Amino acid sequence: MTDTNGLLAGKAVMITGASSGIGEAAARLFAAEGASVLLMARREDVLGRIVREIRDAGGRAAFSTGDVADAGDVQRAVDATREHFGALDAAFNNAGFAGADLSPLHQLDQDVFDRTMDVNVRGTWNCLRSQIPVMLDAGKGAIVNTSSTAAMVATGAPVPYVAAKHAVLGMTRAAAAEYAAHGIRINTLVVGTTRTEMIEHAVEAHPELEQLFVARQMQKRMADPAEIAQAALWLCSDRASFSTGTALAVDGGLTSN
Ligand code: NDP
Repeated sequence: MTDTNGLLAGKAVMITGASSGIGEAAARLFAAEGASVLLMARREDVLGRIVREIRDAGGRAAFSTGDVADAGDVQRAVDATREHFGALDAAFNNAGFAGADLSPLHQLDQDVFDRTMDVNVRGTWNCLRSQIPVMLDAGKGAIVNTSSTAAMVATGAPVPYVAAKHAVLGMTRAAAAEYAAHGIRINTLVVGTTRTEMIEHAVEAHPELEQLFVARQMQKRMADPAEIAQAALWLCSDRASFSTGTALAVDGGLTSN
């Protein structure tokens, strides 16, 4: 049920990568906390089902299909947020791709590098480029970009993914500095290993990873996607009014090890 006293009551929020995992959990949580949510991802059938379920629970939701690597698709999602809900108050730029190929750098297909950069780096770039002008007009806004412990600890993930998540962190910090004076807060989440489709695919390809993923966390478990969504919720909300350019670790202690 939608909460009119919720942390995001009355806010219009765009969420990318909303068809599964962390993005889906965020869409459901944000809507329950009073936000109107625009879900973006490529799988239309899945987005349609999640939107119906959010509406059935009393929430406000719509979707826009597309690839975050395509600037036109991202612009359409921003436009759809404003058309459906009249504003764009916050954005959770969360779509990502890691790939499950753990071959060393010199043996990786060039395609893996290109796709990883396209989705994580160009995708975040495209989102910022389309969202910031709307927030500049409004004189306020909050953006959360999903990075990873791979931006801090350079092991356990393919080299292109590590590079891409470092880039997301750098882009967040630089953009936060540029727009702080305009009332726009831009933060990133340093996400630890979370049980989602991305991790399931990696474990299917390399069963030994399951044990590694659990063992390297201080808390000796993976996160549930809803635990990551809680941090995104706070950063998108006005409660985080003095946080910008920050890298908030939600990683079960991994980067403190
Ligand atoms: P999932 O695979 O469950 O979700 C990824 C989401 O991104 C899906 O909704 C997918 O939808 C969408 N997506 C992928 N590529 C594109 C694209 N080109 N355009 C639009 N949407 C796209 O993984 P997670 O929930 O785990 O991942 C969410 C974020 O968290 C990613 O940025 C990931 O890098 C990051 N992260 C995850 C960690 C983990 O352990 N799970 C750890 C650290 C960071 P669709 O296929 O429908 O397009």
